[in-house]
Amino acid sequence: MHPPEKYDIVIIGSGLGGLLCANLLAMHGKKVCVLEKNKQFGGNLQTFARDKQVFDTGVHYIGGLDKGQNLYQVFKYVGLMDQLKLERMNECFDKVLIGSDTTIYCQAQGYEAFIKNLTKHFPEEVQHIVAYCERIKEVCASYPLYNLTLKAEEDMAYKGNNQSAREIIASFTSNKKLQAVLAGNNILYAGDSGKTPFHVHALITNSYIESSWKCVGGGSQIAKILAANLRKNGSEIIRNCEVKKIVEENGRIVYVETERGNKVYGNHFISNINPATTLHITDSSLLKGLYRKRIDNLQQGISSFSVHIVLKGKTIPYEKCNYYYHREGQLWNLNNYTPDSWPLGYGLYFTEDKQNKGFAATVSLLTPMRFDEVAQWSGTYNRVGKAANRGTDYERFKEHKTRQLLELVDERFPEIVKNIKSVYASTPLTNRDYIGDATGSMYGIEKDYHDPLKTMISPRTKIPNLFLTGQNLNLHGILGTSLSAVLTCVMLLGNEGLVEEIRKA
Ligand SMILES: Cc1cc2nc3c(=O)[nH]c(=O)nc-3n(C[C@H](O)[C@H](O)[C@H](O)COP(=O)(O)OP(=O)(O)OC[C@H]3O[C@@H](n4cnc5c(N)ncnc54)[C@H](O)[C@@H]3O)c2cc1C
Repeated sequence: MHPPEKYDIVIIGSGLGGLLCANLLAMHGKKVCVLEKNKQFGGNLQTFARDKQVFDTGVHYIGGLDKGQNLYQVFKYVGLMDQLKLERMNECFDKVLIGSDTTIYCQAQGYEAFIKNLTKHFPEEVQHIVAYCERIKEVCASYPLYNLTLKAEEDMAYKGNNQSAREIIASFTSNKKLQAVLAGNNILYAGDSGKTPFHVHALITNSYIESSWKCVGGGSQIAKILAANLRKNGSEIIRNCEVKKIVEENGRIVYVETERGNKVYGNHFISNINPATTLHITDSSLLKGLYRKRIDNLQQGISSFSVHIVLKGKTIPYEKCNYYYHREGQLWNLNNYTPDSWPLGYGLYFTEDKQNKGFAATVSLLTPMRFDEVAQWSGTYNRVGKAANRGTDYERFKEHKTRQLLELVDERFPEIVKNIKSVYASTPLTNRDYIGDATGSMYGIEKDYHDPLKTMISPRTKIPNLFLTGQNLNLHGILGTSLSAVLTCVMLLGNEGLVEEIRKA
């Protein structure tokens, strides 16, 4: 009998966080094994096909990918930039629509263009707009890792950021419409008036103002390239392999056990899955009750309802921008809808028709939805390889919600609604089953400006060879998850020089 293979690093979950860590570590000579519960790797980077069209589950656009910008450097370092098929979005990358106001407000790439475009609509506010931009830049400059430098080990600790996004934006201008435009795309971070910290708004907004990009053909190419690079480096990704236990002996994790009872041994372990779930499946007295309780009590952010539309051919022009709509006065309330008021707004994203350039092939709609709406079907489970029918009531629920969302979209985009060829919906249960978060949260642990440090999680745990990574740690999104992966690897390798290597790549 051969002794079981032992890897340098075992990673649980092949989301962007897991795959980036795997690449960074393999590039430093480590033999890595990534274990993924799904048939498709990539987590939120997964795409799916309906009616011959490809849809993204969770990446509509990415910021910071121009030469020398923060995400560009990370992606370049791991060999992504040479292979990714990207398309730069229009100068106006996000268009904001408010209630019945027919004006289309524009958020533009580059601070000069951003200010110029907003000033067209709000000429008397120019000084306030400039001051707001300066504050965004100031906040971003105060986070070393965001600027690919490393000052202290726990570098993503957002010191002193106990300011509310809503209040800080309102402190620059009393013009309610301008406030609504500045935060009009707040679905990007599930904006909530009572919780969202200003730094979350600033770090995300800045990265898109710096530059905005779409992945041509979908975000899954990021995962595919990272997986291929990994295999070239002699590491492994095992799919359809759910980790059920993380086993500690004598103060160190020795192996993880999969659903099928297989044991995968390693020297170090990284969990890319929800931190609370990680602790639930780790039986160790080193993880003290207080730590477990703190992590367990962190609120997961809201989930989503998405509608994916295949359009009739050559009907809708393709626009290299997104639209964000919210009902008048509901800017910060999208998550706090009532059954009668849902939906209070949406994000709208296009893909281009490959055969008929200049026309849109698909449109995806995204709006917040709480898990309790689908809780009655939470006992059902449905994903590729474990398909199950949730029943006709669930189908009726999806149809009803799709109709409600399309009615709202029809107010501003009647041509889109008129030209639907086929339509598909996904709910918080879809998110839960495909990604693994218990309530299908879009962006993981909710940040709260009242106690920002509480919602910050270190990549280190009390078990010296168990680390965490992913969007739950510091900041969600492709950029936030990538920076967290860098920090996880800095800590695991004990190599602070890694950040400089990335900056100079
Ligand atoms: C609807 C939506 C739209 C979004 N749009 C954008 C956007 O436009 N731009 C942007 O920058 N960001 C966007 N995001 C956010 C972005 O997609 C995420 O922040 C990022 O992909 C999270 O990566 P992750 O590595 O933290 O984890 P995840 O993607 O959650 O990956 C975790 C992985 O772990 C696996 N897993 C779970 N449990 C187990 C287990 N027990 N054993 C083995 N494997 C397991 C899962 O299957 C999954 O593959 C969006 C997210 C959503 C939901």
